[in-house]
Amino acid sequence: MEKKEERTELEKLGEFGLIEHLTKGFSLTNNSTALGIGDDAALIDAGDHYQVVSTDVLVEGIHFDMSYFPLKHLGYKAVAVNVSDIAAMNATPEQVLISLAISNRFSVQALETFYAGVQQACADFKLDLVGGDTSSSAGGLFISVTAIGKVAKDKVSKRGGAKGKDILCATGDLGAAYMGLQVLAREKQVFMANPNMQPQLDKYEYLVGRQLKPTARMDIIYELDELGVVPTSMIDISDGLASELLHLSKQSGLGLRIFEDKLPIDNQTYETAVEFGLDPITCVLNGGEDYELLFTITQNDFEKLEKHRDIHFIGYMDETDKEAGLVTKNESWIPLKAQGWNHFGKEGNV
Ligand code: ADP
Ligand code: MG
Repeated sequence: MEKKEERTELEKLGEFGLIEHLTKGFSLTNNSTALGIGDDAALIDAGDHYQVVSTDVLVEGIHFDMSYFPLKHLGYKAVAVNVSDIAAMNATPEQVLISLAISNRFSVQALETFYAGVQQACADFKLDLVGGDTSSSAGGLFISVTAIGKVAKDKVSKRGGAKGKDILCATGDLGAAYMGLQVLAREKQVFMANPNMQPQLDKYEYLVGRQLKPTARMDIIYELDELGVVPTSMIDISDGLASELLHLSKQSGLGLRIFEDKLPIDNQTYETAVEFGLDPITCVLNGGEDYELLFTITQNDFEKLEKHRDIHFIGYMDETDKEAGLVTKNESWIPLKAQGWNHFGKEGNV
């Protein structure tokens, strides 16, 4: 009888499980590799500092929908999301490489518009575009960006450096980019049902902007440096707060608790979530693509950041308990679950 070939579905492992499964047989052999897989960026020993390298891929139909994503914004976002990973190491980005696979649906003019966005991001983040690769694609647009930066060895922040009682900080507000996506998807449905209908986006301008025009929080990295604060651990919030908190907890080997009434949410996010029949706190915890920073600081550094307009103290690391959870307004405990952007997981997006 013919032997049946074994087949495991991707969704059985999920995105993080798959990465772990495929890379577990690799070991680091070069002395210059200071940190490999498992953080926002890899660290390469460059003598007196680390070189920091990170790469991300954006796929049409998965990460963006051409029917509502202006190409200029897409070029900007492709760079910004990589800069965000460099920022998450407390590093400064310096170079970027961009690879494209392009279907013949796209014209030269369309790609010029995409590159205008790339150029704007290079100017905003003081980056040099130093290379890439270009190919045709059988269908759709694929964008791969690699960013390179640097950080002093004693200033680097990894995911696993938090200590018990360290304070958890989140920048900006959360859940808005996810609600922006919901608004865009709804308007697209309305438009497809009746092409004469104009999209109603004015009321949701902030949310849509957060989805289409994300920025990387390099401003926070520079401010932390000026204030003399080195986060004990850090990650950027790309997959949703809950997922990122679980990474910090797991890699620091500590539990943590966050407080519902401390979570930063914009009024427009709150009201729109309610309008869509969604729980606003679920949007804050599991909505993706905020590209804010989540980090921990020692209690001693609290005073230096206490008055910062855009840093929110959402909880603390807990060495007495390995669990990560949310304390609700009525004091009940909800263990955190990662729903995030687990591309292959059964639960999918929020
Ligand atoms: P982020 O959300 O910060 O971009 P990811 O969750 O994509 O991080 O990746 C987590 C870690 O796994 C990173 O160190 C990344 O470089 C690594 N990684 C992701 N995909 C692969 C892959 N296909 N092969 C090797 N390493 C990977
Ligand atoms: Mg990241």
